Amino acid sequence: MEYSDQVLILAVKRFREIDAWVRLLSPTRGVYTAFAFGGLKSRRRFLGCLDPLNHVQFKVRRSGYRGYHCLAEGRLLDAPRQLRNHPQRLGMAVNCLKFFEAAPVAPGSFAEAYGLMRAMLATLDAAEEPSPLFPLLFRARMTFLHGMLPACGHCAVCGQPLGQTGAVCHVEEGRVACPDCRAAASGGVHARLGGEALALLASAVEQGPEQWAACRPHPAAGREFSRAVDLLVRYHMGLAWEQGGFVRA
Ligand SMILES: [Zn+2]
Repeated sequence: MEYSDQVLILAVKRFREIDAWVRLLSPTRGVYTAFAFGGLKSRRRFLGCLDPLNHVQFKVRRSGYRGYHCLAEGRLLDAPRQLRNHPQRLGMAVNCLKFFEAAPVAPGSFAEAYGLMRAMLATLDAAEEPSPLFPLLFRARMTFLHGMLPACGHCAVCGQPLGQTGAVCHVEEGRVACPDCRAAASGGVHARLGGEALALLASAVEQGPEQWAACRPHPAAGREFSRAVDLLVRYHMGLAWEQGGFVRA
């Protein structure tokens, strides 16, 4: 079986002399691994294709025996122009990528995840000085994609709109309540969210990478937002960022 797939390359690992395996994200097939036999030698079949973060059209053969994927040839569609020369921006992209890989999305979300990853890379490639909160906003959006980010427009208990007075996120229950309802609630882990931190949560869900790169909240709001996202990710997805990678918390 042979098909054509337009993919984002997540990782490339060499094995033996001239062969490589490649981790791909496809809008229709999700994340999968394919072999590029002779890929590190054949300039003709894979000219400029086999690098992480490239966007490539591959011809893929699915072997009947054992069912693995082999890349037959590739055509580079686009690649980052600046990103690889800017360690800080590249670091943000890698952080997003690692989070994405640590928490596989369901088939119904492949296309959305692919679009988000492409927009994330395009933004970090172009933005001179992206907001330091960028990876956190991306993480919050992915958490939303997994159905694990609480709705933050209204109090989950009494229903009143949340605004400048702020709110409290109940981490275990995955919901956000107004200060009055928080006072009546039981124990557990809570994260306070002021008005500006709430707006960041809303931006993670309703806006996209381009707006995230430009956001410059008050540092205290950034810290509240970061803490809430970290706690939600740790509790509901079992992941924590440690020493350059996401580990099972
Ligand atoms: Zn309430």
